[in-house]
Amino acid sequence: MNEKKEILTVLGGGESGVGAAVLGKTKGMQVFLSDMGDISDHYREILDSEGIEYETGHHTEERILEADVVVKSPGIPPCSPIVRKIMDKGIPVISEIEFAARYTDAKMVCITGSNGKTTTTLLTYHILKEAGLNVGLAGNVGRSLAYQVARADHDYYVIELSSFQLENMYDFKADIAVIMNITPDHLDRYDNKMENYAAAKFRILRNQTGDDWFIYWKDDPVIKQQLEQIQTEAMQLPFSELQEDGNAAYVDDGIVRFVTPREVWDIPRDRLALPGLHNLYNSMAAGLSASILNIRKEDIRHALENFEAVEHRLEYVDTIAGVRYVNDSKATNVNSTWYALESMTGPTVLILGGKDKGNDYTEIEPLVRKKVKAVVCMGKDNAKLIDFFSGKVPEIRDTHSISEAMEACAMLASDGDTVLLSPCCASFDLFSSYEDRGRQFKQQVRILRDRTIGKD
Ligand code: ADP
Repeated sequence: MNEKKEILTVLGGGESGVGAAVLGKTKGMQVFLSDMGDISDHYREILDSEGIEYETGHHTEERILEADVVVKSPGIPPCSPIVRKIMDKGIPVISEIEFAARYTDAKMVCITGSNGKTTTTLLTYHILKEAGLNVGLAGNVGRSLAYQVARADHDYYVIELSSFQLENMYDFKADIAVIMNITPDHLDRYDNKMENYAAAKFRILRNQTGDDWFIYWKDDPVIKQQLEQIQTEAMQLPFSELQEDGNAAYVDDGIVRFVTPREVWDIPRDRLALPGLHNLYNSMAAGLSASILNIRKEDIRHALENFEAVEHRLEYVDTIAGVRYVNDSKATNVNSTWYALESMTGPTVLILGGKDKGNDYTEIEPLVRKKVKAVVCMGKDNAKLIDFFSGKVPEIRDTHSISEAMEACAMLASDGDTVLLSPCCASFDLFSSYEDRGRQFKQQVRILRDRTIGKD
């Protein structure tokens, strides 16, 4: 008998879309992929070699509306005309993670939050991998979950989930769900309502049962408020810097203590590989997840000590003429720059600027006043920054390229200072991405080093 094949349409030809298409094909579905923009050569090659039909530059509506199920890439807004039409026709629209999870029994450790997702995801993955588990890294980092499930399934996955990815998840269940924090970011996508954004993050708890775990930062006011409004059966493991009843991780006189039903252990705070208060939280979340998965405490300790910094996140670059250069290009919102400044121990020359997403700089003003000796604005239009910080710091400079900004920093910084690129803003006015911005910064530091050596 010839059964009709299930038709899968994938919207978006990036990492997650192509992964979903490959998985669909592997599972015997009839797959069609449509991308309004272009698809990179790398992904075209994969689609071609798998014999998957695709289109670029437009959406052929009739074709798309033939689908039994649609996998939508997280970057495509739910209100886009094509998505509306699909939903109007009653065709289910799901995320790549939701789709992939249907075809694996692996245990899922899922991490979301406004800041710290990538660091915590990589750190958790590092601990599990070092402990010898068969673990995959997925979500915003690494290969898509769908591609891994199709080609080399694992026993465990550590998945970074943005709120965009959490949309269109319905039956998916996290065995361990982690919410790092919730601060305003991408509010434009949520009708500028904080409660909508917070609710999107809390979708990570959907379907959790009494056998599952929920790890979160206890002192986050938005998480606290949201927790009062929802019910979850999951076992809760809150972490905090403070030693209070019920905290599963906390600091006690310089010792980070972990107390879970599985294991009780500790590590001196100054042995953690990642510096700063924010990284204490990231280390706590990762340490708790690993404890729950029964990783030996010696192994967790060792992995937390030997983890290497993640590129563009408070990444130490070099020291030239006594000045430390630190690349925190990933700090694209005010809150992440707050944590970067919090971790600075000496006078700082701060490079700020780029594409402003409606930032309110009052949050960092006290730290800037306390620690920053000069602000170097680096953007196409620095008017808002100059307006806000003038008179609040001893020096302020207006620059419009990375080389101009670095010239200014080299003039302003002296022995014992730190030059910190932690811009608070997106990069798209002068750079193609935050990675591009971070790499150009590091390149400029190298040029400065060569020039300094040349002078000696
Ligand atoms: P995300 O993936 O959520 O964007 P990252 O791990 O890439 O987060 O870190 C982005 C920036 O946010 C870092 O450069 C750092 O300054 C800041 N940051 C990292 N962890 C935290 C945290 N737990 N709380 C607040 N800010 C953080």
